[in-house]
Amino acid sequence: SPQRRNGLFGMVQRIRKFAAEVRSQFPILNQTLPKGVPVTFLDSAASAQKPQSVIDYEAEVYRRYYANAYRGVYRFGAEVDDQLEAARAAVQRLLNAAHREEIAFTAGTTLSINVVASGWGRRHLQPGDEIVLNVMEHHANFVPWQQVAQATGAQIRFVNLTPDGQIDLNHLDEVLSERTRLVTVTGMSNVLGTQPPIAEIARKAHAVGALIFVDAAQSVPHESIDVQGDEIDFLAFSGHKLYGPSGVGVLYGRRELLEVTDPLLFGGHMIERVSKEGSSWAGLPAKFEAGTLPIAQAIALRPAIEFVESIGLENIRAHEQSLLAYAHKRMNEVPGMRIFGPDVNEKGAIVSFVIEGAHPEDLAQLLDRKGVFVRHGHHCTMPLHEWLGVSATVRASFAVYNTVEDVDRLIDAIDFARQRLR
Ligand code: PLP
Repeated sequence: SPQRRNGLFGMVQRIRKFAAEVRSQFPILNQTLPKGVPVTFLDSAASAQKPQSVIDYEAEVYRRYYANAYRGVYRFGAEVDDQLEAARAAVQRLLNAAHREEIAFTAGTTLSINVVASGWGRRHLQPGDEIVLNVMEHHANFVPWQQVAQATGAQIRFVNLTPDGQIDLNHLDEVLSERTRLVTVTGMSNVLGTQPPIAEIARKAHAVGALIFVDAAQSVPHESIDVQGDEIDFLAFSGHKLYGPSGVGVLYGRRELLEVTDPLLFGGHMIERVSKEGSSWAGLPAKFEAGTLPIAQAIALRPAIEFVESIGLENIRAHEQSLLAYAHKRMNEVPGMRIFGPDVNEKGAIVSFVIEGAHPEDLAQLLDRKGVFVRHGHHCTMPLHEWLGVSATVRASFAVYNTVEDVDRLIDAIDFARQRLR
């Protein structure tokens, strides 16, 4: 109908204006590939591109005041310490954490999860205890719990997914019991885009005396998080998916829980006292920051957070959801297309799909010829792909800088690939 067409036209216009402005801040996206092909970057779920402000801020550390952290009293060292604490405060604000020392810098989500699985799990779990997991989790939020279960004799219980790939909350009620010690869940599936209702899951976990761990690697760039409001006990994310540097990530834990979590890495900076007889650990967050931090990367996490804050996570979400709706509409017109996961209105900006007769790797390679960058494979979620009944999918993921033209180029490239693969 003309009304529908007008609605879509208005939406497309809004996306265009917003994205052009944001996109201009990302030099990597504004280059031209050989033969005049533009960059169509649709793999932000793997790692997001960086705005100029982040690139400049990180370079500035090396140019102007670089030194090791928490070591020197000289000016450079003091500036590094101040900048790191400013970055920590920015993370605290982003998550609405109650205390700055509840934020520890790590190498990324994977290390953060391993710290808690090992340092909290080995200390507190015993035979008869249960950890609640689901098959949608990234291997980073799957394998460490398997390992700690094996080491402690705790059992892993799997909560079912609904047929469209959401956490089955009725089944969760059945799985939870006084034996449950921890529920671990993704804030957003890196394949299906599913966004589990974290606050509700936290309430259910707490009602049986269990804790909740949130793997926020995918959710932090797309929605605001409130660890106090949602009553989240532990949370992890990576800088590189939040338009920030690679090599740095965050572990959040409620103070009283981090205090009874053992460190995973031992060495410099994390100690209080070392003697031939034994050693004791520093307070939070130093206990979890052994060795030299990724200094410039952690410092440049702040401009990444400020980038997101300057646009507003609600505006980022609104933009990405419009783009997602447009992508679904166009992709559903492609013959043989099968998109996995929840309805477009009930998920984040990720589209994983297969096309009948096209192997995901062949498809990804042909899309690359048109400058369209997507990921293929199991995306570090083998149990999920087993559940989906496919060995691999193609994934297009959207970020704040993507545009209507990106979606159009994806569709054109898919048409090109389908003709080649026929
Ligand atoms: N969890 C989820 C949901 C992810 O998507 C990823 C990265 O792809 C990770 C964890 C691991 O993050 P990293 O490789 O930065 O440690």
